[in-house]
Amino acid sequence: MEIAIIAHDAKKNAIIEFLNENQAFFKHKKVQLIATGTTGSKIKSAGYQVEALLSGPLGGDAQIASRVAEGNCKLVIFFRDPLEKHPHEPDVLMLLRLCDVHNVPLATNKATASLLIKSFIEEN
Ligand code: PGA
Repeated sequence: MEIAIIAHDAKKNAIIEFLNENQAFFKHKKVQLIATGTTGSKIKSAGYQVEALLSGPLGGDAQIASRVAEGNCKLVIFFRDPLEKHPHEPDVLMLLRLCDVHNVPLATNKATASLLIKSFIEEN
């Protein structure tokens, strides 16, 4: 199952913490992680296998949106920073929209992400 991980800069430590808290799930052989560039390299350094795409501002969110639209990506975990402006906001909105278009679960904060992971674990 392909899962996308994205974190804005202020949330990068929080996403690693979240992965570590749920590492049995994120390191499971059925889980394939993809991530935007900088998030991806941090995830890799933390010991996870991940396909790092372009950095968010250079099109990484758009790449993940296309994986959602093509039906490959089954879950998006996106720790957004609600207190900052981002130059690639249009790409972010596109990703959120395509998750809704294709009914793909999307978590934009830790509480929601935890609930989604729990339900994925229970289902499988
Ligand atoms: P990054 O992109 O992982 O390359 O920092 C995330 C984003 O800002 O969308």
